[in-house]
Amino acid sequence: MKDRQAHLSSDVGELGDISPKVFRDELHRLADWIADYRENIGEQRISPNDEPGAILAQLDAAAPEAAAPLDEIFADVEHVIVPGVSHWAHPQFMSYFGCTTTSPGILAEMITGALNVNAMTWRTAPAATELETLVLDWLRQWLHLPNDFIGVVYDTASISTMHALATAREQAAPNTRKLGLSGRNLPTFRIYTSDQAHSSVEKGAIAIGIGEDNVQRVPTDAEFRMDVSALHERIASDLRKNFKPLAVVATVGTTSTASVDPIPEIARMCREHKIWLHIDGAYGAGLALLPECKWVTAGWNEADSIVINPHKMLFVPFDFSALYLRDIGRLRRLFTLVPEYLHLRDPVGAEINYMDYGVQLGRRFRALKAWVVWRAFGREGLAARIRDHLRLAKLFARLLRDDERFELSAPVVMGVVCFRFKASDNESKIDIINSKIVERINASGRAYLTQTKLHGRTVMRIGLGNVLTTEQHLRNVWEMIQLTADKVDRALCAQR
Ligand code: PLP
Repeated sequence: MKDRQAHLSSDVGELGDISPKVFRDELHRLADWIADYRENIGEQRISPNDEPGAILAQLDAAAPEAAAPLDEIFADVEHVIVPGVSHWAHPQFMSYFGCTTTSPGILAEMITGALNVNAMTWRTAPAATELETLVLDWLRQWLHLPNDFIGVVYDTASISTMHALATAREQAAPNTRKLGLSGRNLPTFRIYTSDQAHSSVEKGAIAIGIGEDNVQRVPTDAEFRMDVSALHERIASDLRKNFKPLAVVATVGTTSTASVDPIPEIARMCREHKIWLHIDGAYGAGLALLPECKWVTAGWNEADSIVINPHKMLFVPFDFSALYLRDIGRLRRLFTLVPEYLHLRDPVGAEINYMDYGVQLGRRFRALKAWVVWRAFGREGLAARIRDHLRLAKLFARLLRDDERFELSAPVVMGVVCFRFKASDNESKIDIINSKIVERINASGRAYLTQTKLHGRTVMRIGLGNVLTTEQHLRNVWEMIQLTADKVDRALCAQR
């Protein structure tokens, strides 16, 4: 975008699209811009320090009446939009789970944009449908799931979990699809998940009419895994009070610490009480691609459903979430509804119409980017990169151990490290200091961390998942954390 020649007027004529020539020229320029952006992303300020509204204030608020030249539009992209985003792909952006964008994924997204197909039915997008079936099966094999598990792709884990819980609800309260929940004298349903589980469980309960208060948060052990005896007690107590247990949501790779719930024991309890077991492997299920981490899959074959987000660990650009069900027919029977205008010739035959497997009708062609990225790296290449992120996480834990002012706040299970700077013996003061360190580092624009609460205390957290992050980047961030911690500590001491 940098060396653009200014066009004098709009690039669009009165009718039709922009000319093929202008489009081609713009594509070439954009290709260079994207390559430069990716190559030099480490020089970007990671996140703007602006107040909310700062971007809007720089843009024309009036809806465009007349056509604008592309030059003018792309100049705004360069000068307002790009500096206004948080650069998740920056190698020192270590928030959340790190960033899993990859160049093959970016290329695939460009093709997806050009094709712009709607993958609602097989007929509207045969290749998109069949590629979705194919990549879901590759992923199923990599996850070591039995072949009766069949999947569907959605945008996010929140949506996947909502659909899993809706299917569980239909099993516990048959005919809810037709009759709804109200006026039927049904018991109050309960969903169980750990105190470390993601809030998408409550969101799902809200969406399917179960109610967020009926999500019971079960305590975790010292390593942030669901306490199975507490789950047992909670279910027994609810049964005595005539609540009906609907589902347990166990997590593989919790949001704060990437801990893994004891799935085999939870599965046993679910079987005993005929409760739906949904596994939230949004982040952590990707670990199954490493042969040495097969332990993580223990008990998965006992689940009724499992979600994984390949955009969290498996290098597919955002968004891509895969939900697998042991009996996908249940999900289909719950949601299939064919409007007349779609004229499906064979709605229950060989054609897979993915619109039947959820609330959405129109669906993006998400499978293409997974297919391109996974072929480009191969399972071995994906595993090698995940393994390297684990190595970096463990290295960071060692660096922490060598500096007695810091402590590791949770075991390092995946590419996530939680830690705390213990400058004082007053825990509340330590909370403030840790929070300030994160704020200062994030405001610097040179690194980006997250803070979270563990056992009620504020801790810092890094997530490693970006293919652009090297050991040097990690060491840079560690140095920044140490220096910032010193400064924050000194400033607070001076105030005392
Ligand atoms: N589950 C876990 C364990 C998560 O960490 C997250 C988000 O980070 C989610 C679910 C929700 O993911 P999504 O943004 O895809 O809805």
